[in-house]
Amino acid sequence: LYRMPITNYGIGYDIHQIDKNSKNGLKLGGIKIPFSKLIGHSDADVVLHAICDSIFGALSMRDIGYHFPNTDKKWKNADSSKFIIYCRNKLKEKGYSVINLDINIIAEKPKINKYVSKMIKNISTLLQIKNSSVSIKATTNEKIGFIGNGEGIEIKLQSFLSIPSTSQKASLFTIVADIIRIFFPDLKRYSSVNGATSIGLNSNRLSPRTSVSTMFSIQLSLLYSLRNLETLHSCLSINSNLFAN
Ligand code: ZN
Repeated sequence: LYRMPITNYGIGYDIHQIDKNSKNGLKLGGIKIPFSKLIGHSDADVVLHAICDSIFGALSMRDIGYHFPNTDKKWKNADSSKFIIYCRNKLKEKGYSVINLDINIIAEKPKINKYVSKMIKNISTLLQIKNSSVSIKATTNEKIGFIGNGEGIEIKLQSFLSIPSTSQKASLFTIVADIIRIFFPDLKRYSSVNGATSIGLNSNRLSPRTSVSTMFSIQLSLLYSLRNLETLHSCLSINSNLFAN
């Protein structure tokens, strides 16, 4: 019944060129910033794109271009928030939660520190996660290369996702198992077998056949009440091994 949390990491990277002829229209993390816009098929929100890519990476779902091709007119000037909402739905579908996003914005200009709080709020709202799960750091490229020349904005980030453990169910099971053990001192708890916690009879004082059948009935009733078929299957295989012994 107890399943360890499953954790996945994803790397996000994106870069867009700054349209130096434009006066404003920059969007970063869904927040409008009065600065030259970025060139792209959609709204070119480089932060949101990199977040999507890291989530797709962690979920082994290819990349953003696969889901939202820049040849599709549907995504022309699209609000990249839509891409994040798509990711959020995929996370939900697969049972994952975002533990944290660590985002690095690399740009010579504009200075974005005063927009960081707004970006964090917007990203956490879009993903329906806590503000504290989103970290945004900003740095320049020390005037080196094309980022240093102010030709573009680059994002590097890591996302950390998890499928939470079933610890609540596991603790409930442990309490029930402990109560049963008070009445049946021969019961022995088997833990972490195939990721499941189960109890069974110590067969020293009973014939193997009796112990196995009693074990079956106790486990089946517990497992049935908790409706965990996967664990039921693993316990049945343990039982049949014991029976063979
Ligand atoms: Zn992009």
